[in-house]
Amino acid sequence: MYDVVIIGGGPAGLTAALYNARARLKVVLLEQTKLGGQIVSTHEIANFPGSVKGKEEETTGPELIARMSEQAQKFGAEIQLRKQVVGLEVSGDIKKITCQDGTTYESHTIICANGAHPREIGCPGEKELRGKGVSYCATCDGAFFEEMEVYVIGGGNSAVEEAVFLTNFARKVTLIQNLADLTADAIAVEQAKANDKIHYIFNSVVESIEGDGMVEAMTIKNTETGELTRMEADDDDGLFGIFIFIGTIPNTDVYDGVIPLDDYGYMLTNDNMETEVPGVFAAGDIRPKILRQVVTAAGDGATAAFSAQKYVERIK
Ligand SMILES: Cc1cc2nc3c(=O)[nH]c(=O)nc-3n(C[C@H](O)[C@H](O)[C@H](O)COP(=O)(O)OP(=O)(O)OC[C@H]3O[C@@H](n4cnc5c(N)ncnc54)[C@H](O)[C@@H]3O)c2cc1C
Repeated sequence: MYDVVIIGGGPAGLTAALYNARARLKVVLLEQTKLGGQIVSTHEIANFPGSVKGKEEETTGPELIARMSEQAQKFGAEIQLRKQVVGLEVSGDIKKITCQDGTTYESHTIICANGAHPREIGCPGEKELRGKGVSYCATCDGAFFEEMEVYVIGGGNSAVEEAVFLTNFARKVTLIQNLADLTADAIAVEQAKANDKIHYIFNSVVESIEGDGMVEAMTIKNTETGELTRMEADDDDGLFGIFIFIGTIPNTDVYDGVIPLDDYGYMLTNDNMETEVPGVFAAGDIRPKILRQVVTAAGDGATAAFSAQKYVERIK
């Protein structure tokens, strides 16, 4: 019997685990794969307070997560990996959580910190060529495109920052954005604009991706004129990379019909991270919010943990 079961081992879940463990609650964090969530797919974190770019201690996603998990465990949080939560019973005072391997957990409270996953374009060829030139992680796959051409789809912070990172490998990076300009913050845009390896195509969307085993061609459409343009791999390269950063979708399938979600599938909470179900809280990218970052996920995690702690004190 636990005081708190945390679902998801990204920044939100790990922060909640730290706060609940420090409050001497019996807490377990269940993670379906490995710790870290989305941030382990980025090379460098320049905007989490305390992680300073250009200093000796540059912080990568995996480094930050390793520190977060060590800290949470040091204070007594239990972390269990390869535990995908597939079912919940939340109506009574004692909640029941079921994992894909059949294990069940009982707890007074649950913190849902399942995060989100990359949004797909949804065009022909994207699924078929995933991992064969189509990627959602520059850190994981950038090095495969040494001295080749890559395209980055998107124009927000993730797209622009990852485009800059990809210039470490690719000889040319072309950013394709559906709007008339980039929507990333000013510093990210300045860095990209100062990098002459980066080129831009605005007001355009990807219509299809083609290739026999690897990405060899792509057709884009100008959203203003309707004009279609086919881009083909350079003859010498034979292939190119497409890195997609066009937003995220919440990992909330397991909660559908159990805990109230908004029209886009995000989990609804009040400012204290309480859902409508007593004893169930949510934190991080799983919530509707204007800024999805490590610092906001961690802030939610701390608040959710505190609310869970107060709930446990009331009912025990
Ligand atoms: C390419 C990229 C670059 C980024 N760069 C930055 C940056 O530089 N700075 C910054 O602040 N933010 C950055 N972000 C955003 C940041 O990564 C997220 O805002 C943050 O990771 C959200 O944390 P989270 O804990 O809410 O969710 P997530 O990080 O998504 O973690 C959720 C975890 O829950 C697990 N999970 C999901 N469902 C289940 C289940 N049913 N059972 C068990 N476990 C489950 C997942 O496996 C995952 O580990 C970036 C994101 C991307 C994609």
